[in-house]
Order: sequence, then structure tokens, then C-alpha cells
Amino acid sequence: MKVVKIDKENWAEGIEKIKESYKVFGPSKSKEFHLFKELEKGEAPDLNFLNTRLSPKSMFFPQSEGILCYCLDPNKKDECNIVKEIQKDYSPKAIIGIRPCDAKAFTLVRPNFDNEEYQDPYWIKAYDSITFIGLACSNTDDSKKGMPCSSCFCTSAGCGPFNEEGLDALIVNTDDGYIIKALTNKGEEFLNKAELSANSNADELTANINTLKKQAEEKINSFVETDKLKDKILLDLHSANFWDDECFACINCGTCTYVCPTCWCFDIQDENYGDSGVRFKQWDSCMYPLFTLHGSGHNPRSTKVQRFRQRFMHKLKYYVDKYDNGIQCVGCGRCIRLCPVNIDIRKICNIMNSYEPAA
Ligand code: SF4
Ligand code: SF4
Repeated sequence: MKVVKIDKENWAEGIEKIKESYKVFGPSKSKEFHLFKELEKGEAPDLNFLNTRLSPKSMFFPQSEGILCYCLDPNKKDECNIVKEIQKDYSPKAIIGIRPCDAKAFTLVRPNFDNEEYQDPYWIKAYDSITFIGLACSNTDDSKKGMPCSSCFCTSAGCGPFNEEGLDALIVNTDDGYIIKALTNKGEEFLNKAELSANSNADELTANINTLKKQAEEKINSFVETDKLKDKILLDLHSANFWDDECFACINCGTCTYVCPTCWCFDIQDENYGDSGVRFKQWDSCMYPLFTLHGSGHNPRSTKVQRFRQRFMHKLKYYVDKYDNGIQCVGCGRCIRLCPVNIDIRKICNIMNSYEPAA
């Protein structure tokens, strides 16, 4: 696969070329944070950021998405009682500057939306329309803040600052240019369409990437212990006595689930306006009591401790047991940075990993 190094001066020109073939999304500063947004004509992605406040999961899993609409007005003969699918935009898109942890997160999520028994056409078509161009977490002169954040723990969560899973190409920001490595055919096509004039001594560039990768991995100094999670007995963890203490401060605000790149819970609701209505698919959260409220009035997770436990058991035990593919967390640290009461998944994970029931 192609590896090229481009001058930073040529970057803006390449981005404009790319916009002829894709809708291009990238990080953009919004007040004191960065968010992913569609880039306008003449706008380049701002790669001088740590990580975006929200993960880019909403690019293919929108917070609220219409599925179908209907009309019950007997005066509208051609529309009455006809259910219509809401058309969506599955044209080619490129997300530039996604961090490796977010890209890996979406590979962990895919089996929930795309498996042998069930395929979510909205998620799959939207995800497959995107070319993911990652940004390695290397430190450069023009990113004075430096990487990683103190709450990044990707290297012990099955990921890393140069991880390539889920990416079509990886950008490495160096002091004197961008090295871009294609990882898939989609990534190679992206590079061809950008028509970047480039130095491309592949062996030299690959060696350069490997050196920067090692340096970046060595800078991560925050870790979780996960080695014993798979061997724990599920019911022992479920009935452990630490949950009451650990959940005490939680206010069930749901922030951790909304900012998490691997949280996938959604709900489907119908909204009626007079004689017409829309069926929506929208994010929900295991932290909210309504999420599990049955039509009968019974709620299997009616208390805070049950909902809190569900979040961590799902990510750190149920997922591990079901898929045998590590924890359902990539170490991006957003939930740690944004929890209003400082609940820290690293602490909960370590407690679960070392838990031994009383004899
Ligand atoms: S962000 Fe913190 S307080 Fe809010 S639901 Fe998550 S753990 Fe609880
Ligand atoms: S968790 Fe790792 S991959 Fe994610 S932003 Fe931090 S250093 Fe980069």
C-alpha cells in the first residue's frame, strides 16, 4: 500500500481536491473544544487538537434519525395510510483526523449492528459510505499541547496511538510534513483523489512511522488491568459488594454514555403531529431509568446501582465473555474527563479485575 509524505503547504490544496469526490468532515474548533463537522469550501481540518469532545460516532449513528414517516389524513388520498421510508444520504464521505481509538471503537461496535441474525441497514450503509482517515497521536512542534491526554489509556485497552484497526489511511503529523499511509483500497483511492505531490520512499517513511509510534506508545502512562476479567464468574461480579460504594456519587446524567465511542444503545419512538408522524431511532442510555421501563410498569433496572453496574458489566464483562475480543472500551478517556463527579472507568475496571468474592 502507498505511503507518502507531503509538505504542509500542499495539504490545503489536496483537501480541496478531495472535496470534489467526497463530503469531507474533520475536526474544527468550537469554543474551547474541537468537534467533527463538514468542512466548507476553503476550510481544512484543524489537526492541532488532543481529541474531540464527542466521538465521531454520530457521523453514521446520528443522535436522532428519522426512519419512516406516515400520514393518517383521509383527505390526502395518495399518502393516507402509506408508510414511507425517509431517504438518507449515503454518498461517499471522508472523515479526516479521527483518532485511532475512535476508529477501533467502531470495529468493536459493528458486531452489534451487523451480525448473522441481525443487520441494521442504516448503520451499515452509513458506516460503509465513509473513508476513515486517522490521525496518529504523535507530538509535533505545531501541536504544543502534545499527546496523549493524561486520561488516555489506549495501550492497555487493546488499542494504541498509532493503531490502524478501522482506518483506511493513517496521517502522521511530523514537524516537516504529513506522512500518510494507505491501509485499505479505500485509503489508497483517497490518496489518489487528493493528487498530492509527494515524496514516497516507502521504506524510509515506514521506518520513520515506527520510530514515532514507539515514542508515542512510551508516553502513555495511564493503564487498566483486564487480564483476569474473562476468568471471573459473572454472577460473582454482579453481586459484588463494591457497586454501592462506587456508584454513590453518580447522578445518572448519561454523559459518559453519550461521549463514549463504543456506546450503542438506542430507542425507537413514534412522534405524531396531528395526522402525520415520524418514526425515529435515537440514542438512549443504560444510565436512564426509562430505557428499561417495561410497558407493564416493571423496571428491571429501577435503581441507580443497577444502572451503574450495567454500564460497567456490559463494557468489561458481558462484552468480553460474548465476543472474546477484549473489553468494549478503547481507552479514549472521554468519560473520565467529562463525568461531573469524577467517576473513573480505570478504577472500576481494576476493581473488577482484582475482585475475589469472600470465601
Ligand atoms: S457521567 Fe458520571 S455521573 Fe454521569 S452517568 Fe456517567 S458515571 Fe454517572
Ligand atoms: S486514547 Fe490513545 S489513540 Fe485515543 S486519543 Fe488518546 S493517545 Fe490517541
